[in-house]
Amino acid sequence: MKAHCDCVHAPVMAIFDSLQKEEVPMITESALSTFRSSLRGQLILPGQPGYDEARKIHNAMIDRRPTLIARCAGVADVIAAVKFARSHDVLVSVRGAGHNVAGTSLCDGGMVIDLGGMKGIRVHPGTHTARVEPGVTWAEFNHELQAFGLAATGGYVGTTGVAGLTVGGGLGWMVRKHGLALDNLLSADVITADGELLTASSTENADLFWGIRGAGGNFGIVTSFEFQVYPAGTVLAGLVLHPASKGRELLRYWRKFGPAAPEEMTDGALLFTAAPEVTVPETLRQGAILGLGGVYVGDLDTGEKIVRPLREFDAPAADIFQRMPYSAAQTMADFLWPRGTYNYWKSNFLKSLSDAAIDTILEYYSKAPSTLTVVVLEHNGHGAMERVPEDVTAFGHRNWPFNIVVTTMWTDAADSDANIRWTREFWDAMRPFLADALYVNYLSDTGEDLVRAAYGRKYERLVALKNKYDPTNFFRMNQNIRPTAAAASTVP
Ligand SMILES: Cc1cc2nc3c(=O)[nH]c(=O)nc-3n(C[C@H](O)[C@H](O)[C@H](O)COP(=O)(O)OP(=O)(O)OC[C@H]3O[C@@H](n4cnc5c(N)ncnc54)[C@H](O)[C@@H]3O)c2cc1C
Repeated sequence: MKAHCDCVHAPVMAIFDSLQKEEVPMITESALSTFRSSLRGQLILPGQPGYDEARKIHNAMIDRRPTLIARCAGVADVIAAVKFARSHDVLVSVRGAGHNVAGTSLCDGGMVIDLGGMKGIRVHPGTHTARVEPGVTWAEFNHELQAFGLAATGGYVGTTGVAGLTVGGGLGWMVRKHGLALDNLLSADVITADGELLTASSTENADLFWGIRGAGGNFGIVTSFEFQVYPAGTVLAGLVLHPASKGRELLRYWRKFGPAAPEEMTDGALLFTAAPEVTVPETLRQGAILGLGGVYVGDLDTGEKIVRPLREFDAPAADIFQRMPYSAAQTMADFLWPRGTYNYWKSNFLKSLSDAAIDTILEYYSKAPSTLTVVVLEHNGHGAMERVPEDVTAFGHRNWPFNIVVTTMWTDAADSDANIRWTREFWDAMRPFLADALYVNYLSDTGEDLVRAAYGRKYERLVALKNKYDPTNFFRMNQNIRPTAAAASTVP
């Protein structure tokens, strides 16, 4: 490492010290300064104002200290960051909206390529298509689309990033009618590990297009997404609420309601506990709540008829179904997943929602150590997702209609052990009901076993693609597909 001259700014000293600890190759002051001045966005170093805020992500469990945070303002910054990190052998992580609960967007000691400031959205109402930059959230995207009566099928909450959610899959409120977010991706601009720009679509770099639709950030950084979007306008959305003590009978009813409903209806069930500031009838204050609901996108009078049986079954304690803009439906559940809580999640597609699975879910939720915890049962199937042939995208597992997501959340680090232990015990009890199919985006854990389980027989094809596009494993802060090329780095 080069000796510092007296004039080096304190944060720059900090980066040199930090990089030295990591034993990465030398970064000279002039290289760092050239890199900084090459950016239209900001380069934030440890010790500088805003550093601690810039390294916070959705999940407070993830407390890492990157050495460089490159807040990119555009594609040129992304290319500069990739080339700088590559030439100095610096570990990188790629951040969209920072929602991944495994914390893959944040690295210790390396460089975060932070795309959060890239928020361009361009809607083409004539063709029902839209272009989105990678810092955009689903709430922002659907806000813009709403002005044209259009909507994109994305996530079930508005705060998640378009980028990470799409490259991993994308389960949301129109999945039954229009498929996953990635099924509606028409093309993408991708910066590769060499810092080159490639366009990926069904006609251009089609192998890369296959890989970025499901295998996350393994092959490059998407700087522009082109989506198919749909007329939506006003939709019928909401929930009926019951005490969870009635859950056994209700979930047995609900598991038949969704599959019988037309694809315009995407539905789910959730177990949660009302926070004091949430307005609910007194009967729902005595314990856990079961919510059954969804979004109907289509003719509203027909929607009212479809949803009526759910609204009338077993006299709900509250009915909050109403007509609303799709953009409001996109954000209606956001309050259940506040930013900055501690999160530990487990998720898997279910073989079926059997009586025994229902009993296990209800039993474990009643013992949850934290009242912030939410268990979600998603009904994604019986629709468009399963019509796409299995081999068209890297995402697999299209034929399991129900998915469970245990989103354990708490606010005090002292409660981490109890909450993680409960989640794992719950999960062990759920194993008999789980299909051999999991969705990478919902995982708190990382590791080769999980990645192999997520991609199944597609894993070897993904390794071949990784060998082609990223043989040194430059993009490895993700649910990592390890290349078999000789010089690959595998250790974050
Ligand atoms: C509260 C909450 C609600 C959620 N709801 C849903 C849901 O309804 N449906 C659903 O399917 N998932 C949902 N998820 C999971 C979500 O899909 C993932 O967390 C996803 O990674 C979030 O995207 P992001 O851009 O915020 O990710 P980040 O945490 O910023 O990034 C995660 C990873 O995505 C990759 N990545 C990010 N940006 C790019 C890019 N531009 N190019 C290439 N790779 C990139 C990188 O590998 C990165 O490490 C939810 C998560 C949370 C915390």
